[in-house]
Amino acid sequence: MAESSEQSSPASARTTVRRGAKRAEYERSQMFEILRAGSVAHVGVSTADGPLVLPMVYGITDENMYLHGALANSLLKDGADTEICVTVTIVDGLVFAKTPFNHSMNYRSVVVRGRARIVVDEEEVIAALQLMTDHIVPTWDVMRRPSQNEIRATRIVAVPLDEMSAKVRTGGAVNDAEDEGGPYWSGHIPVTTAFGSPVSNADAGAEVPDSVQQLIGRDLHE
Ligand SMILES: Cc1cc2nc3c(=O)[nH]c(=O)nc-3n(C[C@H](O)[C@H](O)[C@H](O)COP(=O)(O)OP(=O)(O)OC[C@H]3O[C@@H](n4cnc5c(N)ncnc54)[C@H](O)[C@@H]3O)c2cc1C
Repeated sequence: MAESSEQSSPASARTTVRRGAKRAEYERSQMFEILRAGSVAHVGVSTADGPLVLPMVYGITDENMYLHGALANSLLKDGADTEICVTVTIVDGLVFAKTPFNHSMNYRSVVVRGRARIVVDEEEVIAALQLMTDHIVPTWDVMRRPSQNEIRATRIVAVPLDEMSAKVRTGGAVNDAEDEGGPYWSGHIPVTTAFGSPVSNADAGAEVPDSVQQLIGRDLHE
């Protein structure tokens, strides 16, 4: 299903937000916006040893999320051709209520569920590697291309972006009526993750690329 496809209702029963349903977001364009702004995917797989969730970088097209690892990567090996679950989370702020019970966070998160497919077509492999490389900042065009050996040593997995949901929380705390007049502070504070100045390697053979230079001061999740 393409990003532009209409979808404002849940894709399936298992991706229907039940708790905090007013924070649910099923609009594909909104879910893609979160996936583009996110930086790390937490990939959950049922392995022979039990459930395992590991952080990974990712890249997306209108149709798929791509993940990669070494051929020896146990998570992707166990997850191939099985149902997996991938979560992307962005923390936008801390929310202070008048009681611990009502404390919260502002956030954007997407949960994707689907069958992981091992990508074997070389054109799709290269395209996926480029998507992952360029996901946060485009640098593919200022690097050496992967060699055949490097490609052979890498496992790429695609998860269809068909069955997914998002939850978004914004704004201040919601205090209980009995606490409204209480003598406690309540509010929220934004969280940002800003890029600092680039530090060149001792063996850097070129100036800092423009795409990296332009990150300075920007928010990772903007
Ligand atoms: C931000 C981020 C992005 C990453 N991106 C990628 C990526 O795109 N591709 C990739 O292959 N790897 C990535 N990694 C590393 C990844 O999380 C795994 O460590 C790696 O893929 C090895 O997986 P495995 O299943 O072979 O681990 P194994 O070494 O077989 O795992 C065995 C055990 O080691 C522990 N373990 C493994 N990884 C971690 C971890 N990250 N933190 C704490 N304990 C751990 C767990 O207890 C696990 O059960 C990333 C890590 C981070 C933090």
